[in-house]
Amino acid sequence: MNVILFGPPGAGKGTQAQLLAKRYGIVHLSTGDMLRQAVASGSALGQAVQKIMAAGSLVPDDIMIELIAERIEAPDCANGFILDGFPRTTPQAEALDAMLAEKGMSLDRVIWIEIDDAILVDRISGRFNCAECGAGFHDSFHRPKVEGVCDGCGAREFSRRKDDNAETVKARLEAYHEQTAPLLPYYRSKSIVETVDGSTQISDVAGRIETILEGV
Ligand code: ADP
Ligand code: ADP
Ligand code: ZN
Repeated sequence: MNVILFGPPGAGKGTQAQLLAKRYGIVHLSTGDMLRQAVASGSALGQAVQKIMAAGSLVPDDIMIELIAERIEAPDCANGFILDGFPRTTPQAEALDAMLAEKGMSLDRVIWIEIDDAILVDRISGRFNCAECGAGFHDSFHRPKVEGVCDGCGAREFSRRKDDNAETVKARLEAYHEQTAPLLPYYRSKSIVETVDGSTQISDVAGRIETILEGV
């Protein structure tokens, strides 16, 4: 099963992707996580993208396409994958189609997590992740079951993203509306888009996505 989770920053793509990866045993491919790892490692890629990410702008298409092409080649993706944060532009979507076609693969669904911009600033400003396993949490909406301890792996260290501040969020939302939202008609023309109300609780969104994927 090959799925794209589509939506603005803070919509819940990462949260739902983590749940789906566990449930279906398929790979969660987050280009944001991949880029943040590159930045943390200090690699040439990391150095090239650091400032762009800090400003909330999109990393150039050629870099993103190469990054995802390499990852999708890996054997663990043959069972299926959940794309979270890719594609974000028309050239990225077209390149993805071409690389999947070459491998005899295709996309089963694009799940659009629809949500109002007004909710997203609160979502993003309360976001934090486990520093060990990456599990996502929120100060108000999704606290660890035991205070200060990751539900997933028991670690006690968490991190907050540098770009999760009000100023950068504005730029990221603009990038979404200008460059990413126009992909919806592209995927609609292929009749693979399903819409989910992203303003409901995490478990409700998950339930709705499960129902959609039962039909795949
Ligand atoms: P994205 O990957 O789309 O940027 P995340 O999955 O990281 O979004 O979610 C952003 C923040 O909102 C996180 O702190 C997450 O715990 C929280 N969150 C995700 N889904 C919901 C939801 N349905 N209701 C409330 N909070 C949510
Ligand atoms: P969010 O969870 O808020 O949607 P991500 O973690 O997906 O954000 O992405 C963080 C940043 O990484 C983006 O603001 C952008 O700079 C960069 N990035 C991630 N994926 C892409 C992509 N497919 N194309 C261009 N830039 C990307
Ligand atoms: Zn953890």
